[in-house]
Amino acid sequence: MTLSFWGVRGSIPTPGPHTVRYGGNTSCVSLALDAGHTLVLDAGTGIRPLGASMPPGPHTYYVLLTHLHWDHIQGLPLFGPRNDPDARIVLLGGLEPAWGDMALEQLDGIRFPVLPADLAAEIRVDTSPLGTVLEPFGVAIDAMQVNHPGRCYGYRVRTKAGSFVFMPDNEIGACGSDRVCIEDLARFCDGADVLVHDAQYTEAELEFRRGWGHSTVAEACGLAMEASVKRLLLYHHDPDRSDSGVDDLISRARLLLSGSAVDCGAASEGLSVVI
Ligand SMILES: [Zn+2]
Ligand SMILES: [Zn+2]
Repeated sequence: MTLSFWGVRGSIPTPGPHTVRYGGNTSCVSLALDAGHTLVLDAGTGIRPLGASMPPGPHTYYVLLTHLHWDHIQGLPLFGPRNDPDARIVLLGGLEPAWGDMALEQLDGIRFPVLPADLAAEIRVDTSPLGTVLEPFGVAIDAMQVNHPGRCYGYRVRTKAGSFVFMPDNEIGACGSDRVCIEDLARFCDGADVLVHDAQYTEAELEFRRGWGHSTVAEACGLAMEASVKRLLLYHHDPDRSDSGVDDLISRARLLLSGSAVDCGAASEGLSVVI
């Protein structure tokens, strides 16, 4: 199974000379299923280059959203296959059956000039229980609600080849009655081949952004070690983080993880990881 990264930035797209290496598009990763079928996690602006990379013709895209914050849905209206009469775009409702329709509300003729019904592709929302749609492909998906304002999920995707966890927005933080604890998160991520996790802030930055729903690099490393994952990929890079700033975060993470068996890097646009 190959996990491909199309958008790795948090909050807002950040094109420009300082983000060339890691990329400025917002959250989107994909997993090729059988020929003609692709699972897409999040529909930030990264979904546009994903669409542009796909040849026209019969293809089904299963889009599963972690939450509806703008940086995770804003690429949907410009996802190229929307104009392909042979393409099918299926928004998976998962634990939030209303989210598919809510994401499509962007295409209302006002905020975007075209309505979903006027696009060439078949676009529909599937509210079957999470995972059942992908069972025929040998893919199982578990979900866990994480610490992020307005409700947000992390997903664990399992295939015969292994598993990865996609947790783009999550403030690990302190344990509390209304918060998921690191022990719960570690249980959910236990032994995953790859953990893609929010590492938006440094400790100094978090001081002024507590409750915004994002973690520090050190917290992401702590979770990776507690869960004994094989590889941690730092994700949801802050819009103010330059390429050299991300390099610094990787160096810090590797220092924190030295002595553990966790391999570490940062997600970048164009990265493919074989699991
Ligand atoms: Zn986000
Ligand atoms: Zn968010």
